[in-house]
Amino acid sequence: MKRIAVLGATGSIGRQALELVAARPELQLCALSSGSQPLDELRELYGVPHTQVGGDLTTLLERAQPDLVLNAVVGFAGIGATLWTLERGIDLALANKESLVAGGELALAAWGRGGGRLLPVDSEHSAVFQLLEGRGRETVDSVVLTASGGPFRGWSSAELEDVTAEQALRHPTWSMGPKITVDSATLANKGLELLEAHFLFGLAFERLEVVIQPTSVVHALVRLRDGAVLAHLGYPDMRVPIAFALTYPQREATPVAQLDLAGGLVLEFSAPDEEAFPLLALARRAGLGGGTLPCVLNAANEVGVERFLAGALPFLGIAEVVEATLGQVDGAAARDLGELLEADAAARELAGRLARRLTVRV
Ligand code: NAD
Ligand code: MG
Repeated sequence: MKRIAVLGATGSIGRQALELVAARPELQLCALSSGSQPLDELRELYGVPHTQVGGDLTTLLERAQPDLVLNAVVGFAGIGATLWTLERGIDLALANKESLVAGGELALAAWGRGGGRLLPVDSEHSAVFQLLEGRGRETVDSVVLTASGGPFRGWSSAELEDVTAEQALRHPTWSMGPKITVDSATLANKGLELLEAHFLFGLAFERLEVVIQPTSVVHALVRLRDGAVLAHLGYPDMRVPIAFALTYPQREATPVAQLDLAGGLVLEFSAPDEEAFPLLALARRAGLGGGTLPCVLNAANEVGVERFLAGALPFLGIAEVVEATLGQVDGAAARDLGELLEADAAARELAGRLARRLTVRV
């Protein structure tokens, strides 16, 4: 029996995970958390002993003592739970990419000390994990992450000026929570994923590529040194990577349909437009700069997205806020969680001030 804690249980990833766990007798829910939504209904439905709304997630984990933690919290708020889990050598199924992006160095150190499994839930990274499994790293030339391009693929900067939150929330291929949906529209999500892949797989940024594949059927590719390219295909359905992480290394059946190949499957690839969508390049730059720059990038992006969703910042303002914030910090490395929390808080404060200058006037 594997005892599972689902953090962010009321979210898009959390709810899909609860259904998958409930369908497998060898998996048992031992804890659920949410940011603010009540959990009474879910606790009763799934018979879960430990639940927590808001507060410090590590106190819930201490009480529940899980075998595996699914961190499906959105944003930097998931950092404490990620570090707690890695430090103790408890298996971590990680959807909360922001914690790894912002706290990469600390997370890797904790993972090294703890020695548990770090199983990516992000579809691209789950695919890369599977493509790299059992393969000597010296045989790998590079890893390619795919992006759908979001609802504004092919749009120019001028066309993006007046984009509304409602338009940005209409993702063409994935149904997800609002924050990551906006991140997919700005390509910040792919920028965060570059950083996520860098930390997860220990790959330098020159060996990480991004390519647009509009239908999200190809989740990632790996180029090998002999010229072969391996790809991971499937319908865009998060239940596959979630189930993979929850049942690893067993790889159990899911209710997801098999890919129809004979029905005329067409795959198109193209380069991302880094001029109209500057957050991808900004993320790479923050990654190359290192230290707390990825943390600052993430914090400023969270502030920008929140304000955009509230109708208080234009769409293109998100990248402007991130770029301006990155330009005003030194990015010195954080030696511990306390220093990381300080860097995050300072970046949020600065980004908030910069965002107010770009505020939308109606
Ligand atoms: P969501 O907004 O649907 O759900 C977020 C969950 O986090 C909710 O349960 C909410 O109550 C909880 N939460 C919010 N703020 C919190 C806080 N301050 N403290 C504790 N809990 C808090 O988000 P989602 O789409 O499920 O995404 C969750 C994570 O998974 C994100 O990091 C996202 O990037 C990643 N991810 C999601 C998808 C997807 O398909 N939804 C795909 C890949 C990666
Ligand atoms: Mg992804």
